[in-house]
Amino acid sequence: MIKENNKSCGIIGSGVSGLAAAIRMRNKGYRVTVFEANSFAGGKLSSESNKGYRFDMGPSVFTMPAYVDELFVLSGKDPRDHFNYVKLDPVYRYFFGDGTMLDAWHGKARFAREMAKILDEQESTILKYLDNTEYVYNLTADVFLHNSLHKFRNFFRKPVLKGLLNFPKIGAFETMNEANEKAFSDKKMVQIFNRYSTYNGSSPYLAPATLNVIPHLEIMEGAYYPEGGMVAITEALVKLAKETGVEFKFSSAVREIVIENKKIKGLRTDAGVEHFDVVISNMDVYNSYLKLMPDVKKPEKTLKQDKSSSAVIFYWGIKKEFKELGLHNILFSENYFEEFDTIFSKRSIYHDPTIYINITSKHTPADAPPGAENWFTMINVPNNSGQDWDALVAEARVNMIKKINRILKTDIEKYIECEMTLDPRLVESRTSSAFGAIYGNASNNKFAAFLRHANFSKEIEGLYFCGGSVHPGPSIPLCLLSAKITVGLVK
Ligand SMILES: Cc1cc2nc3c(=O)[nH]c(=O)nc-3n(C[C@H](O)[C@H](O)[C@H](O)COP(=O)(O)OP(=O)(O)OC[C@H]3O[C@@H](n4cnc5c(N)ncnc54)[C@H](O)[C@@H]3O)c2cc1C
Repeated sequence: MIKENNKSCGIIGSGVSGLAAAIRMRNKGYRVTVFEANSFAGGKLSSESNKGYRFDMGPSVFTMPAYVDELFVLSGKDPRDHFNYVKLDPVYRYFFGDGTMLDAWHGKARFAREMAKILDEQESTILKYLDNTEYVYNLTADVFLHNSLHKFRNFFRKPVLKGLLNFPKIGAFETMNEANEKAFSDKKMVQIFNRYSTYNGSSPYLAPATLNVIPHLEIMEGAYYPEGGMVAITEALVKLAKETGVEFKFSSAVREIVIENKKIKGLRTDAGVEHFDVVISNMDVYNSYLKLMPDVKKPEKTLKQDKSSSAVIFYWGIKKEFKELGLHNILFSENYFEEFDTIFSKRSIYHDPTIYINITSKHTPADAPPGAENWFTMINVPNNSGQDWDALVAEARVNMIKKINRILKTDIEKYIECEMTLDPRLVESRTSSAFGAIYGNASNNKFAAFLRHANFSKEIEGLYFCGGSVHPGPSIPLCLLSAKITVGLVK
């Protein structure tokens, strides 16, 4: 039973973090209204259909489902009555240019055993590495994931203090690649672990080795697939929010955060100004400042940080089944350093990109017509700084098809029945993500975590932020934690 507090909260955006913040604020007793520029909810976590094929448009790897469940429990409901998922095993299928193919299994022991069978790496070496990722995760989770990094008092909490005192042990002073090259002799093993830098749009040759904790979540805690596809997360949270009494206004772009005497007054849309006591912006923080409150003093250093990578995706309806592929497939590039250097230094697309193919019809046959598959075919690319995207996307399509044909020994073009495309310009226009960067700031330096924007405004009373562009960062679980930290800070 919600105890009303006669206060109101306006939320800008219905991304996964905006939805979680809405549910949490409603449970705190606020009257909550979510304004969404699009006609649909979910932001990056949405779905589209084309000629009998259904596609999740953005995220495809789901970890830490407990943070979704938590929102149902908070609202007095049994999550299993509303939202379900299965654990994946294996999680990934990896393909290398020399014909090597291997599966990444769930659980430390099996992962290490199966990798050691195929790669030139000792099982004990892999186990030792995974033990270390677990150790670093346990040391850092309270510092970087569960608390605001911008409240001085948090630094004196015991688990946070422990993490900070052990700073030299968490890999902040070397890159992911340096740590992985030290740990492994097989280059394929290094490449497999370096790839996790792409989970927040960074380069393993620049990002601190602390980020080597990411595989811990996937390999040890597990990766999952929601019943009904990734979009089921959005659908379940919208339904829950509505049931708890949250009001949604779709096709309602917020034009201005209305501020008076450094205090929140409300939000202005094309329909006029609505008064709110508290505002939470789930819009990318860069654009929140530039577009919705241009006169407010900006945290220049934070906003000027380099932005993450973006993506080019072809959503292909493929009228053939490929038995050799699973739900998550990676076709690695021959030269990973060149690939990341092309993205982050040359700001272009590498001619031999690592290709990720996600096929949800492997789990949900109804996502494609009989005998066919829905391919989400993605490569990492730079964010938008005015490149000639039409030319780059056309060139990337040719290179991707060539590579898929080589590795899968097929002629994929003749099976493509329908196609939709995503590039950085569309990421930008569909979700207001600055420069079409998918993950907000890049984590390409050791201070990046500290240079993400806080979950609150230091200038404006009653103004808060949540989502992938602020602390603790991008991905579904971190966005859910972002909402939790933010709402926890609302007085
Ligand atoms: C291609 C791709 C692949 C990804 N893969 C994964 C993955 O496998 N696993 C994973 O965990 N994460 C993945 N991510 C990252 C993850 O999707 C994001 O971190 C997360 O969904 C971001 O959520 P958010 O709450 O920050 O909001 P967003 O999804 O960015 O949504 C913001 C919302 O705010 C709305 N909005 C913006 N401005 C206004 C305004 N002025 N007025 C009203 N509404 C406004 C937008 O329309 C949008 O709906 C991926 C992302 C992409 C794009």
